Amino acid sequence: MPELPEVEVTRLSFADAIASARVVSVHLGKALRWPLGCPVSQLTGRTVLGVRRRGKYLLIDLDQGLLLVHLGMSGSLRFAVHLPPAGSHDHFEMLTTHGTLRLNDPRRFGAVVYADSEDAPEARKLLGKLGMEPLSDSFDLSQFHAGLKRRKAAIKQVLLAGDVVVGVGNIYVSEALFLAGIRPTLSAARLSRPRCARLHAAIRDVLARAVAKGGSTLRDFSSADGERGYFQLEAMVYGREGQACRVCGTPIKSLRQGQRSTFYCPNCQKV
Ligand SMILES: [Zn+2]
Repeated sequence: MPELPEVEVTRLSFADAIASARVVSVHLGKALRWPLGCPVSQLTGRTVLGVRRRGKYLLIDLDQGLLLVHLGMSGSLRFAVHLPPAGSHDHFEMLTTHGTLRLNDPRRFGAVVYADSEDAPEARKLLGKLGMEPLSDSFDLSQFHAGLKRRKAAIKQVLLAGDVVVGVGNIYVSEALFLAGIRPTLSAARLSRPRCARLHAAIRDVLARAVAKGGSTLRDFSSADGERGYFQLEAMVYGREGQACRVCGTPIKSLRQGQRSTFYCPNCQKV
């Protein structure tokens, strides 16, 4: 599943190239998770102002309205001047004066949704409940700690839920909790301020490094210009059950939380 770093890498890979392009036409394939919400003809002639990201949504700003793009479980975007003819898994294609933006999504949990503005109901429905943005200056430590204090559930589950901080998906949550020395099963409410500060720094660190490395290659992710990332090679705990901890040599353990695998070092993450 594309996580925040993959989405950010995707954004970086085409945001500059598509900026100021004019939309020539839009073509839809099979139904995605949510409908586009406007006739494709309504997008023709609009100008792309830029591409932002909020959580795992890409926001393609147009001179009127915006497109919200989510990659779902298996989606990937490509943007290029010349693309091969659309295949059976290509379900959204936007031809512009700078090139073609194409969403390939075999499982079709992704979506492209049009909204008149970020305050329109269609946009608020998708973006309204998102927590703080971990890579922005708005990721405030006091607010983060206050958000965790209100939750008794395991810290890993609270981070995954995305309403305190967005985009810390399953891979990155295991990695961040390892860096901060926190057991994934610890109740979020029990996290002290100093440990919360370590976690805050670890989340930013692990996500920023993943973006820098070009996203992970755990699935068939490829960024919009076809380049691949290498974050997986550096994982400290994720996917390393039974292997020696890179810090202390203790075998990495795994457990199931909410039907997702969690990896941790029982020695480095005692509580
Ligand atoms: Zn260890």
